[in-house]
Amino acid sequence: MDKITEQKLVNKNINPTAMRLLVLDFLLSQSAAISLSDIEKGLSPADRITIYRTLKTFEEKGLVHAIDDGTGSPKYALCLDECNPNEHHDMHVHFFCVTCKETFCLPDSKIPGITLPAKFTPQEMNLLVKGVCSNCVN
Ligand SMILES: [Zn+2]
Ligand SMILES: [Zn+2]
Ligand SMILES: [Zn+2]
Repeated sequence: MDKITEQKLVNKNINPTAMRLLVLDFLLSQSAAISLSDIEKGLSPADRITIYRTLKTFEEKGLVHAIDDGTGSPKYALCLDECNPNEHHDMHVHFFCVTCKETFCLPDSKIPGITLPAKFTPQEMNLLVKGVCSNCVN
């Protein structure tokens, strides 16, 4: 298993077990966000519960973020380096392609600031844009 994958875990204070390296390596090889079921298929015969726990650990440590793209199964994508166990900084737009059903992180497209009434304290904000990705045009 290569050093870069291991270093990414160590940087987020995650003990680099074989399973975690496997899951992270798989996430690194993806071009779009991926569901638990797809990770399970990709890493067969790895156990679903173990993969799920691994993803939860990654999420708690600021290594991945979960995306609700309206399909009913959360998608997981790698975080930027700024994310940490106290705070995720993934305030970017997510794009769901209605044709290929893939969900993409758009880290350069920030969610615009909004003003809430004073009695509401925001904790997180999601913005999902639906449309057609460049692979699916035409
Ligand atoms: Zn994050
Ligand atoms: Zn597409
Ligand atoms: Zn994202």
